[in-house]
Amino acid sequence: MNKTYEQLMKRIEKVMAYQAALTLFEWDAETGAPEESMEYTSKTIGILSHEYFTNLINDDVKKMITKLGDEDDLDFNQKAMIKNLKKQFEQMEHIPPAEYQAYEELTAKASGIWSRAKQKKSFADFAPTLEEIINYQKKFASYRVKKDKKPYDILLNDFEEGFDSEKLDEFFKKIKEAVIPLLKEVSKKNDTVDKSYNYQKFEIEKQREFCKYLCGYVGFDFNKGVIAESAHPFTTNLHNHDVRITTHYNENNLESSIFSAIHESGHGIYEMHIDDVITQTPVGTGTSMGMHESQSRFFENMIGRSEAFWTPIFPKLKEMYKEQLKDVTLEHFIKGINKSAPSMIRTEADELSYPLHILIRYEIEKMIFEEDVKVEDLPKIWNKKYEEYMGMEPEDDSEGILQDIHWAGGSFGYFPSYAIGSAIAAQIYSYMESIMPIEQYLKDGNLTPIREYLNNHIHKFGATKNTNELLKDMMDEELNADYYIKYLTEKYTKLYNLY
Ligand SMILES: [Zn+2]
Repeated sequence: MNKTYEQLMKRIEKVMAYQAALTLFEWDAETGAPEESMEYTSKTIGILSHEYFTNLINDDVKKMITKLGDEDDLDFNQKAMIKNLKKQFEQMEHIPPAEYQAYEELTAKASGIWSRAKQKKSFADFAPTLEEIINYQKKFASYRVKKDKKPYDILLNDFEEGFDSEKLDEFFKKIKEAVIPLLKEVSKKNDTVDKSYNYQKFEIEKQREFCKYLCGYVGFDFNKGVIAESAHPFTTNLHNHDVRITTHYNENNLESSIFSAIHESGHGIYEMHIDDVITQTPVGTGTSMGMHESQSRFFENMIGRSEAFWTPIFPKLKEMYKEQLKDVTLEHFIKGINKSAPSMIRTEADELSYPLHILIRYEIEKMIFEEDVKVEDLPKIWNKKYEEYMGMEPEDDSEGILQDIHWAGGSFGYFPSYAIGSAIAAQIYSYMESIMPIEQYLKDGNLTPIREYLNNHIHKFGATKNTNELLKDMMDEELNADYYIKYLTEKYTKLYNLY
């Protein structure tokens, strides 16, 4: 093996160890740590982040990366690793370590401040912290901004390589033009689907049991993964043999936990099937947030909301809730789980109105970074956009601008990944339908061939290929939003008889 590469990997192992420790703290903060812990634990996180930073960003590592960039005795994975490290360097090298530490401390504390402000429905309580975070983000972006590039483009590219606001403007324009009129048509027929069955009382213990069954059914491997509970479901991982997902149970909403369990399992399945050759390295994880969302949404929506998927397992659900579901047929259930009913809350949105929630956040983030809007004006802007695109305004900040945790974590440029993910999922599904009998597999309760195809064409590569490279190698085409629009149009036209 290349000597310099070997030396570099020794260093990177240490960096990965710090990263694993930080991931565990994050996991613990959401699933077990007491409420007051972060006020103090944030200091520990700041110190560990500093160690992570200085072990990665230093002259020795830089020299090795530069040297290896010119050498040609590296294999495919090693080259990908060097490319990935170069990108991380480019993101971080101009940030002073002390600033990085202070920022990490700030964002560790911010989630608590955000959550208390949300409880009090008071944006003013969160605004000063948000302003501080935005200022850091602007500063960090300004360290890296090159000629002709806008700061927001830099953030977008961090989450999805090759994407900038020009591409995304075009992407969202297509969605806006197709979804807003379609949603209006569907809304007129909203009352035709009765979904009251979903809001009866469903014992949480039984929900837990059914969700565990579902996760296993779609392919979550309990030898490499665990399920816990948190206020907002999410997935994290130390590596491909330690993947952790959470769910959230609501006694008066049956499908909420069902679809978040399938969704997070989709994320988990991606991480679990990354090749062992690249485990515990910077490329041993999903390639981007967009690709990650495509996998969770593929399982949640394309598969999990289809009649074929429920055909073999709906009897089991009915058996579990004999009383509550006694009059609900499979056909009725499928209409129910696909009902479009626009609401204020993104995480509760149906598939059709979902991209509009993202569009709103994208437009606001662009305003923050390109037009320097004042933080105090954000709630007003937020509410106006909801009125304009969805025809409704939030009653308070908690169901308005305070609903998402992302900005408290400094994740600007992240939201578009959700819409990109839905679009990728629709494109992959459309392609897979043309090469294998997906529906038949689902009806037979046999998800293995579907999962294996994704394992072999996406999962195993981790971050050694980017989103468009994966898509191109799979179907000879890069991301194309037309498949998503076609999917939504056909699905909702059929569900609501809009012919
Ligand atoms: Zn997700």
